[in-house]
Amino acid sequence: MFDNKYDIKQAISLRHASLHKQEEIQLPLLKKHLHHTLNIPFYQRELGISKADINNLRSVSELSQLPFTTREHLDCYADDFGLPDEKAIRDFALTSGTTGNPVIVPYTDSDLKRLAFNEAIAFYGAGVRPDDRVLLTVTLDRCFIAGLAYYSGITSLGASAIRSGPGQPARQWNTINTLNPKVIVGVPTFLRDLAQWAVDEGIDPTHSSVESIITIGESVRKPDHLLTPMGEKIAALWGAHIYSSYGATEFETAFSECKATQGGHIHPELMLTEIVDDQGNVVVDGIPGEVIVTPLGVEGFPLVRLKTGDISRMYSTPCPCGWKNKRLGPVEGRLAQRLKYKGTTLYPETIFNVLQQIDEVSGAYVEVRKSSNGFDDLNVVIGSESVNISKRIEEMLQAQLRVKPAFTVLPTAQVEATMSQDGGRKPRKFFDYR
Ligand SMILES: [Zn+2]
Repeated sequence: MFDNKYDIKQAISLRHASLHKQEEIQLPLLKKHLHHTLNIPFYQRELGISKADINNLRSVSELSQLPFTTREHLDCYADDFGLPDEKAIRDFALTSGTTGNPVIVPYTDSDLKRLAFNEAIAFYGAGVRPDDRVLLTVTLDRCFIAGLAYYSGITSLGASAIRSGPGQPARQWNTINTLNPKVIVGVPTFLRDLAQWAVDEGIDPTHSSVESIITIGESVRKPDHLLTPMGEKIAALWGAHIYSSYGATEFETAFSECKATQGGHIHPELMLTEIVDDQGNVVVDGIPGEVIVTPLGVEGFPLVRLKTGDISRMYSTPCPCGWKNKRLGPVEGRLAQRLKYKGTTLYPETIFNVLQQIDEVSGAYVEVRKSSNGFDDLNVVIGSESVNISKRIEEMLQAQLRVKPAFTVLPTAQVEATMSQDGGRKPRKFFDYR
């Protein structure tokens, strides 16, 4: 019998077992999870399943008969999510909700252990071992959970964490040169700028101790698993291997690339993942659709079939690394930002990936309006100080997108001002007037 104690050795052995065997182990974990969700007011009301129904489940695939949970549910019924047992809560994370109100995600002691295990096995898959040093350039405070998850994962694996936090390149390089981390964790743009700062100061990042880079936030891989231009730039500047990861505060689990970088492994004991089409039906391997997550074993903020709004693909064939658990491909875009343009489907990220290849471009955003023919009217606003850039942009877009959206080139400062006008954590790159 599999006991879910978040043990690394047991986890590695499970990943070498067949998918069938993994699903056998997931079924009792799913039943336990669904029983627990019946303690949550929202699911008591909305799940539409009895204790007897849960006991009678025959396969994890029957999960797809249950209703979805949406981010709007999390906003509108905020008080009905989360374990109503204050004594069990040890930590609160806050995440930005779609209405602007933060979603409160409470963690129990078991949830914090689960979170640590989730990152420990992810780091292990990316080649991190006990005795390695890992530089964390993400924040551990301000009610963010990612930094804490990485920190507890590193230490529970037996590696050492260097809690450097974000910002201050000079201090970061002092820390790198003093403590010689083998691995660095951070947001892609920051890691690019950190390496570029060193180059400008006459330091060669490829001669540093850093061998591997684990990125968080925006994807550094394209749907074909090759690095995006941003990913290529980071890899070249650092002379290091890059491993992309994807996760969100609400689902308390990460999808992280292993050494084979053929998608983020889905932790079988922690997560059931589905990809669905616009009608909500599960699609087969390799077909893009919305990522639906059911994190298993969460106590404080359990969820069933959360619609993430992110687009990706599932891969169920064994990974070249030797693990047989399913993998999730790179996130290709947000469902809400899907563009219908001249008969093709397009995401803003695809356009940005083209523009990132042009050094003279320093920022861009997409404006979209409804057109009379049922498709979308796009305008890509591009920041550049170069006067003769338009022809090159036009050729690159045409060659790589096979369609050519309208674009406007404006001074960089003007584009940056528009992108940061609403004061969000990240610059806004998408303006939807549909
Ligand atoms: Zn693998």
